[in-house]
Amino acid sequence: MRNSSRPRVLVTGGAGFLGSHLCERLLESGSDVLCVDNFYTGLRDNVAHLLEHPRFELMRHDITFPLYVEVDEIYNLACPASPVHYQLDPVQTTKTSVHGAINMLGLAKRVKARILQASTSEVYGDPNVHPQREDYWGNVNPIGVRSCYDEGKRCAETLFFDYLRQHSLRIRVARIFNTYGPRMYPNDGRVISNFIVQALRGEDITLHGDGSQTRSFCYVDDLVGGLIRLMGAPDDCTGPVNLGNPEESSIRELAGRVIAMTGSQSKIVHSPRPGDDPNRRRPDITLARQKLAWEPKITLEQGLARTIGFFKDLLGPNDGALRRTGREQTHSGRA
Ligand code: NAD
Ligand code: UDP
Ligand code: UDP
Repeated sequence: MRNSSRPRVLVTGGAGFLGSHLCERLLESGSDVLCVDNFYTGLRDNVAHLLEHPRFELMRHDITFPLYVEVDEIYNLACPASPVHYQLDPVQTTKTSVHGAINMLGLAKRVKARILQASTSEVYGDPNVHPQREDYWGNVNPIGVRSCYDEGKRCAETLFFDYLRQHSLRIRVARIFNTYGPRMYPNDGRVISNFIVQALRGEDITLHGDGSQTRSFCYVDDLVGGLIRLMGAPDDCTGPVNLGNPEESSIRELAGRVIAMTGSQSKIVHSPRPGDDPNRRRPDITLARQKLAWEPKITLEQGLARTIGFFKDLLGPNDGALRRTGREQTHSGRA
């Protein structure tokens, strides 16, 4: 017999970077956690320390296929998030966002669960409004190399609001801005992990363009706290709500900071900006502050120090072996 006071929580993409941190926090708060992942970019290793936990269960499953389980809450995080990975199989990326959302919404409808969508600042595209507020509709290229992700996530938001209007589902939509921290993958392709790994290895730092483009980086612990806050909010608090850190930095400044903090001898090399790379990005988090009493606490300096510590341990003296064994490979070869 299950203890009815304990929420049963499904985390899709739970073996990924954000998902694994979320699973940990939910277990700490007393929930039963069902982690579903197809290991496209996620790793069993990310949740290996949770496998013996009596309230944790790991299931290999692709959410583009139906899923029949009994749960009270669903965090829908499944989707590759790094441009390098989501562009590798763009059709699958769109399927994951769209078919995956339909399946998870169908599940939420059947079991009357609350369901939260991990949406993204990418719904704003290359924004003409700065900082970005939730009422800005965005500037997205529908046919570019990033569209599989941006438009997939936009369509998922549409589905969430249509299931709200048509079926009165209890939805929440979080628009997550760039988030970083321990458990990113060495070859993830995203800028913070790339720069730290390059700096620690003494390799060239690969700056796209002149580095004047900006992002606002949120540390993973802050972000996960925001997701849980949103799920726990009253049902009329559907969002979309921006979750991110408004501390904006140019990518050039970021490179300088990583080099200084690691004491690296790495040199900066320039390569062309990738297609449709947004120029500026910074969340307006007024809504999250008002509705969720949430704001990030960890500065970029503090978060980078923790993330550099993580990568130092990971690469450490066995860095050569790590590269040879493919521990750092992804679905295109990652173990
Ligand atoms: P990640 O790539 O580490 O995690 C994604 C997880 O989803 C992986 O474990 C992957 O194996 C799994 N997955 C992918 N397709 C799947 C499928 N069809 N079925 C089941 N599992 C599948 O990325 P992340 O940074 O942890 O991002 C998690 C979520 O948050 C994503 O939805 C992403 O779009 C969103 N998000 C992240 C950021 C960020 O900066 N980290 C920013 C905005 C939005
Ligand atoms: N679905 C699921 N698990 C469930 C219930 C539904 O995966 O517990 C999937 C199923 O594949 C379905 C989709 O969710 O196609 C949408 O379900 P919904 O009930 O909204 O629509 P319908 O069944 O009419 O297509
Ligand atoms: N970037 C870079 N060097 C890298 C990886 C990324 O200069 O090795 C740039 C990228 O072009 C973008 C910014 O850093 O302008 C953030 O890229 P990321 O892939 O981390 O996230 P997103 O573009 O999805 O915000």
